[in-house]
Amino acid sequence: MAAKYSAVFKCIAGCGEEYQLDEIVYRCKKCGALLEVAHDTEALKRHDAAYWKSLFDGRAGTTKWPYGSGIWSKKEWVIPDISDDNIVSMYEGNTNLFWAKRLGDMLGMSDLWIKMCGTSHTGSFKDLGMTVLVSMVNEMIHRGKKIKAVACASTGDTSAALSAYAAYAGIPSIVFLPKNKISMAQLVQPIANGAIVLSLDTDFDGCMEMVREVTKDETIYLANSMNSLRIEGQKTISIEISQQFGWEPPDVVIIPGGNLGNLSALGSGFRMLRDMGVIDRLPRLVLAQAQNANPLYLSYLKNFESFEPVAAKKTLASAIQIGNPVSVQKAVKTLKEFNGVVEQASEEELSDAAAAADRTGTFCCPHTGVAIAAMIKLLEKKVISPKDRTIVISTAHGLKFTEFKTGYNENALEGIKGKYINSPVEMPADAGRVREVLERKFAQNNIRAFPR
Ligand SMILES: *Cc1c(COP(=O)(O)O)cnc(C)c1O
Ligand SMILES: [Zn+2]
Repeated sequence: MAAKYSAVFKCIAGCGEEYQLDEIVYRCKKCGALLEVAHDTEALKRHDAAYWKSLFDGRAGTTKWPYGSGIWSKKEWVIPDISDDNIVSMYEGNTNLFWAKRLGDMLGMSDLWIKMCGTSHTGSFKDLGMTVLVSMVNEMIHRGKKIKAVACASTGDTSAALSAYAAYAGIPSIVFLPKNKISMAQLVQPIANGAIVLSLDTDFDGCMEMVREVTKDETIYLANSMNSLRIEGQKTISIEISQQFGWEPPDVVIIPGGNLGNLSALGSGFRMLRDMGVIDRLPRLVLAQAQNANPLYLSYLKNFESFEPVAAKKTLASAIQIGNPVSVQKAVKTLKEFNGVVEQASEEELSDAAAAADRTGTFCCPHTGVAIAAMIKLLEKKVISPKDRTIVISTAHGLKFTEFKTGYNENALEGIKGKYINSPVEMPADAGRVREVLERKFAQNNIRAFPR
């Protein structure tokens, strides 16, 4: 069945290698570089921007399979040549833009929004890419490819997403996790979803090596973000943001990064919108790293002239505790094209930023805290303007990181003296004493200033 539109894997180093999307291949066989999904844009351009906008606007949020999904509503731009029957979707995407008005007011910003990508089935943006990858695996199985399982290394969220989509499709999954380095809410998901859970005495980078080893057996399909199928799903974040603003691009997008796949996905989405004539300018992209896992920041300080992996130290932003990011080449290319900036946040900065933002109702995860802390620093350095339409990408749901929030508010996080601690008052059920406590609490100032 020939589809009207087509896409292939293409080597990002420009050596010209191409592979079919149902081929089991993760890197260029000639030069070893990562691959990207390249679309036949000439075929897509037979329709104008108005056509695509109205097609996409009419689909998302409906029940019409599979277009109700925020990802598959853009199927022609994601994976055009896949049977609707083989798509594995939970109608992910379509996440709200949280108008962070009060947070913005407090920072003197007039147009601040948070894209709630963690408001999703497994609680992180990883669902957006995983629907595409698992759908393609399902398609490959139906086309007769011998695949017995899908596997990933994970700092928590990838394993939750992979195991959920695999369970939904009835495909076995294997997840490699760094022992004691992920949250309970993250660990419980692959367990409940019936994945083969391997908890290894190493860090994420060690798990990544292990999964590369295991997936040399081609019947075990690699689901990490070096597999660019996931990027195709995640790039709809940019498309959706623009769509939500009536097909206008924002000025600045700030995203926390670890393996750096999502940054390149954002770039890829905005680039496609521009190439298809839907938008006429590109936003500035900001990549925020935890200071304890900051190899890209260090490279940025040297104008990307060189890149050295680091041994990532422990960070509360555990999903980005990565010292040797697999998508670094793509990330640098993206930042150069999008007038990009890299900023870092210390453990204290990310914790206070998350806590302060939570006081305005955000309930953000520590990674979103990294992005907000970076934003505050860039505002102070006047790298970004308070008038810019600024979007913070919130990558996970705050409820996945309750240990982080309770730890902060119990003043129990090592080395951190929180500025915005709010701890429960334990007391007898005595009306007089309750009144006393309330008076004392009312007298304390509501938070107005931000971490400086
Ligand atoms: C995976 C993840 C990230 C980092 O995304 P990369 O594509 O690896 O840079 C950030 N935050 C959360 C919550 C994640 O799960
Ligand atoms: Zn190549």
